[in-house]
Amino acid sequence: MNNLETLCIQGGYEPKNGEARTVPIYQTTTYYYEKPSDMADLFDLKTSGYFYSRIGNPTCAALEDKMASMEGGSGALATASGQSASFIAMFNVCSAGDHIISQSTIYGGTYNLLAVTLKKMGIECSFITPEATAEEIDALVRPNTKVIFGETFANPAMTVLDFDKLSSIAKKHNILFMVDNTLATSVVTKPKDFGANVVIYSTTKYTEGHAGTIGGMIVDCGNFTFDEKRYPEYCTPDESYHGLVYNTLGAAAYITKARVQLMRDFGCYMSAQTAHLTNLGMETLSLRMEKHSQNGLAVAKFLDAHDGVEWVKYPHLETDADYALGKKYMKMGSGVVVFGIKGGKEVAEQFILNLKLIKQVTHVADIRSCVLHPASTTHRQLSPEALVECGISENLIRLSIGCEATEDIIADIQNALANI
Ligand SMILES: *Cc1c(COP(=O)(O)O)cnc(C)c1O
Repeated sequence: MNNLETLCIQGGYEPKNGEARTVPIYQTTTYYYEKPSDMADLFDLKTSGYFYSRIGNPTCAALEDKMASMEGGSGALATASGQSASFIAMFNVCSAGDHIISQSTIYGGTYNLLAVTLKKMGIECSFITPEATAEEIDALVRPNTKVIFGETFANPAMTVLDFDKLSSIAKKHNILFMVDNTLATSVVTKPKDFGANVVIYSTTKYTEGHAGTIGGMIVDCGNFTFDEKRYPEYCTPDESYHGLVYNTLGAAAYITKARVQLMRDFGCYMSAQTAHLTNLGMETLSLRMEKHSQNGLAVAKFLDAHDGVEWVKYPHLETDADYALGKKYMKMGSGVVVFGIKGGKEVAEQFILNLKLIKQVTHVADIRSCVLHPASTTHRQLSPEALVECGISENLIRLSIGCEATEDIIADIQNALANI
């Protein structure tokens, strides 16, 4: 049962005789053990089990196992949000004095994390544009470079990651290649197949899919070996965990360190209620992605043919600059369509005012169609130069096409454009 359609419904949970068919919600902070030695073995990682819901909970574990199995990974860690997933995933290999190379066309929150907050912690980031050549990127690699990072399908610039270009550099230097797969999901792209070592998600988006709860996930692909020179933290005893050397855990080194060291100290674990809702949403993930993708392509084609539209960006549109990358790395196109409206900012605002079915929200990748003007909302804290670097123009409108009837969605857009 390795097909994604099956795994997103049945993966991660196998009831025993007489147990609940669906994953129970373990609404508890703590777990009972008879003997002190049972508990000691858990703390020593000699046995697996739960002792405190800040670092592990059975409801969250079912979701972690489901997502790890869909990715073909060795394990996963559920987090309170996509932002905490990004932070924990990076901080798990970086400390003050280290360096990250990241694609510049990424989610605004991640851009800020890298450009501002991690910088305050002494971690420097070099940003690269999608056009940067392999030679240019290779020249940025330093002895202290710990992560090469990109988004499969960048929110909201909609550029497709050139996996081969980045993974070849990561492999050459044995640097961790990390990918944010939020807007694709493993139904559309399996980053591990294209060389990724760690995959992160904001489960808030397509994974949960119904705009019901904020969450994140870090998936360890289990295909990276930490060498002593670049990653001494993995090869020397962690004094805060009575001398544990993470590398001795093999394929589970990365995700175990994230859980027992960073979750212990930062405490941004997912709640059981969130895991329950996310798991429920995931049961229809493959069905939803197909519908999102069909509707997304239909809307992209409609906009492409419309006079009021300056340009459209959708990777499965034949005229798109990323069409070849989209075909190579994405099984389908997802529901996110961005376009430039003729006339700039005021016209963009009028278009959003005219929409009825499609509502303006900061959210993206919801089952309900929604719209946003990033330059005046999610990305308004960025400078004009940073906006350009993120691939966002003043007239860019981001549509997140839901699973409603195709005709109803197109009629709403047609009407809104006609009434400008
Ligand atoms: C939304 C989003 C995030 C951040 O996730 P939150 O759950 O909102 O914290 C990270 N990456 C991408 C691509 C996103 O779309």
